[in-house]
Amino acid sequence: MNTSRRSFLLGAGAAIAGLALPAGAQAATTPRIYSCAEWGARPPADPLVTLNHPANRILVHHVASPNSTDYSLAHAFQLARDEQADHIDNNGWSDTGQHFTISRGGYDLEGRHGSLDALRGGRTMIRGAHCPGQNDNAIGIENEGTYMTVEPPAAQWNALITMCAYVCHQYGISPDEIKGHRDYYNTLCPGDKLYAKLPALRDAVRAALT
Ligand SMILES: [Zn+2]
Repeated sequence: MNTSRRSFLLGAGAAIAGLALPAGAQAATTPRIYSCAEWGARPPADPLVTLNHPANRILVHHVASPNSTDYSLAHAFQLARDEQADHIDNNGWSDTGQHFTISRGGYDLEGRHGSLDALRGGRTMIRGAHCPGQNDNAIGIENEGTYMTVEPPAAQWNALITMCAYVCHQYGISPDEIKGHRDYYNTLCPGDKLYAKLPALRDAVRAALT
């Protein structure tokens, strides 16, 4: 399956055509999100499920990976491939669990196939595998690194704000619905430091949308 290639070719026009916003809402900045085809994803191991409704929440995660100082695009692509391989080969999942990934260098990557197309359309979502009980309604965003004792680098933080604003914009999600993985599951994710920044994230997203 390779829907991401099609979404890449459709480009910005598809994003504009897909907007379904409250009157008066400004267009959020459209982030550059590298598709599965661009980072060299494998095909999903099993067919994925497209849900015919928008997402209504964002869950913020950390990968719990090393806090790499390689901020390059090549590293971000490798991260995406490593995550996919881990989730398929070690976890036995159909594909990358989360919908999107943000590298420490601030690069945005599609996770699960079809997530980018769905986001651009704003009316459907791909069933995820990032938090039991939330996979049919919440967009999962994984942030490279481990944020128990340190905060994310500025580039990653700023990318997270822009990505969350775009997701809220496309799906009509309130910034109040930006939550941490630990709000819905017994986990330390997304780390004490990043979790403590979620109120600031909501404020920044709210500002970006008005
Ligand atoms: Zn998590």
